[in-house]
Amino acid sequence: MMDNLGRNQTFRTIDRKPIYWRDKQDSVHACEGSNVHPGVRLIWTLCQRDVPANAAYKCDGDDVTCATCKQAVAE
Ligand SMILES: [Zn+2]
Repeated sequence: MMDNLGRNQTFRTIDRKPIYWRDKQDSVHACEGSNVHPGVRLIWTLCQRDVPANAAYKCDGDDVTCATCKQAVAE
C-alpha cells in the first residue's frame, strides 16, 4: 500500500493511516495535506475547510461522518 500522493504532492494518509479531523460539532472529516515547505504542513478537509494546526489526527477506527467528505473519499 502506497500513501496517496496526488498532484502537488498532496496526501490523504500519514503512516498509511487516513488523516481525519473532528470539528466542534463532532463531525469527523477526511483530510488532505501538503508539505508546502520543509516542516510546514497544511491540512484541509475534503469539504474544503481549513484544519487548525495540529488538530488533524491519524484514523484510529473512527468513521467519517461529514457527508461531503464521505462522498469525496468514495470517489
Ligand atoms: Zn467534511
